[in-house]
Amino acid sequence: MSDIIRLLPDAIANQIAAGEVIQRPASIVKELMENAIDAGADDIQVIVRDAGKALIQVVDNGMGMSPPDARMAFERHATSKIRTAQDLFAIRSMGFRGEALASIAAVAQVELRTRRSDDQVGTRVVIEGSEVKTQEACQHPPGTSISVKNLFFNVPARRKFLKTNPVEFRHLLDEFMRIALANADLAFALHHNDSEIYRLVKGNLRQRIVQVLGKKYNEHLVPVDEETNYVRITGFVGKPDIARKTRGDQYLFVNHRFIKSPYLNHAVRNAFEEMIAPDHHPLYILFLDIDPGKIDINVHPTKQEIKFEDERLIYNYLRVSVRHALGKYSVTPSLDFDQEQAFERAGTPARQLATPQEALERQNMQHWERLFDGMKPADAVTQTVTLQSDAFPAESAVPAEADARTNVPYQLHNTLLVSQIKSGILLVDQQAAHERILYERNLHALKEQAPHTQQSLFPITIEFNPAEAAMFRELLPDLKILGFEIEEFGGETFVVQGAPVQLEGQSEEQVLRTMLAQYQQDLQITAEAKERVAKAMSLSMAIPRGKAIPPAERQLLIDMLFACENPYTSPSGRKCFVMLELDELMKRFM
Ligand code: ADP
Ligand code: MG
Repeated sequence: MSDIIRLLPDAIANQIAAGEVIQRPASIVKELMENAIDAGADDIQVIVRDAGKALIQVVDNGMGMSPPDARMAFERHATSKIRTAQDLFAIRSMGFRGEALASIAAVAQVELRTRRSDDQVGTRVVIEGSEVKTQEACQHPPGTSISVKNLFFNVPARRKFLKTNPVEFRHLLDEFMRIALANADLAFALHHNDSEIYRLVKGNLRQRIVQVLGKKYNEHLVPVDEETNYVRITGFVGKPDIARKTRGDQYLFVNHRFIKSPYLNHAVRNAFEEMIAPDHHPLYILFLDIDPGKIDINVHPTKQEIKFEDERLIYNYLRVSVRHALGKYSVTPSLDFDQEQAFERAGTPARQLATPQEALERQNMQHWERLFDGMKPADAVTQTVTLQSDAFPAESAVPAEADARTNVPYQLHNTLLVSQIKSGILLVDQQAAHERILYERNLHALKEQAPHTQQSLFPITIEFNPAEAAMFRELLPDLKILGFEIEEFGGETFVVQGAPVQLEGQSEEQVLRTMLAQYQQDLQITAEAKERVAKAMSLSMAIPRGKAIPPAERQLLIDMLFACENPYTSPSGRKCFVMLELDELMKRFM
């Protein structure tokens, strides 16, 4: 038998490598922008069509390439950034693996134009599916322009797996925003289908954050700046009052490279401790500068993961730095000050004089309250029902009996609707139930295209940041079907002329902002676009837990829930109701 092992042809090897480096249009934007930065450019333009599926072009004013280099750049493992294995431990550039251009050229149609400022003419290289089609001299200003067309034109299976344009564009924006935030001293622009999404001028980090994430953050930024001989930590965290329920703007850069680290995210979160609610996430844009010899960024082809020589040390530095910054800007009184005491002292000075006995009682009370605070109704209904009367005298004063007589469902802790049913008790989570009702109604409207709009007397304007505006624009057609009448007002401003009837007193702006945040968070979930919109909308519009529901509307809510196709769970999967059998309850009295 003859030998059967063969080396793969380059084109195939490149395509395989591309599978790791180039997952979607966003990966290309990242690689090309990083190359431009490594080339010393200070003005970088990104132009995309169809969320990058049709075209991605990156134009820079960097050092350019010589004619042989322009060809060489597309070879696998071809790089000007490292020479020896030693160099791997001193990496200051964004690239070093020499596989991005080779990978991109393996799965798309690429045209490169480049010129060094000292050269008379530039070079043009056209390469498709790893095959060089043209190499010739051309006119070009100093710098490099690379355009990538028809991503995955030769790998139909992968092209098919690309998500819808809004989803791909969101990923692309994420990469663009990360790089723009990491390099406030460079100018950037982003164009999508003929509209300018971003034009960012050079400035300091604060200015860049405001340009990228929105003006509203400006007065909520707390600077962080700490230096040890091991690591320098700089940047900003958001004040506790702008922490949000959706994990939004959290950026951590190590040596100017965006990285994902749940561990270090925890360090920042931890620094905020009781200053923000347990289900809220702080805003942060933080930079760690560290000797490249103390980290390994060669863990993953996309370089978003990193290994630290001593991760626990970094964790502690990060936590202390953030805590210190919050303390210094008197967001928290001082470094290791007990948070609970601090708040009480600030809020209710008289309390300071409390006798030890009073203090103890108060603490006890807080313990009791805490028992109810974190309780998930679905899990702990039994306790809620049996204990409520002695823990909350004020509420138990409401005669439950009267409710039962008139058959009006009782509202427990402004959270659960309690109704007597034949076999026992029905407990309905008001928020989950309302989400379900709105979800089915929204989905129906979206599928039937039957809007119900109520014209607002006073149209309101909403201003988003450019990235949000770009996303929001994509959602306008669906929002229209849901009953929103919204017009673009130019730039990032929108005017809401009308809203769905069921908005009932909630602020349009709040509903739309929450909806957008929710929608962005769910983009990764493989749901149909319409379902995603319906879900985001219902979550942002539903009656929250903790809100009183007028007696007259309680039964209606329950009836509407059971008129739903699936009354069992909310669109995010929580139980809408729980039934307690009388027999089961009676057993507890034995
Ligand atoms: P890496 O960035 O890891 O070196 P790439 O495949 O991204 O690998 O690029 C290969 C080489 O091509 C780079 O090392 C650099 O010398 C050159 N190059 C790529 N993009 C540019 C650019 N925009 N300007 C100048 N040179 C570039
Ligand atoms: Mg590169």
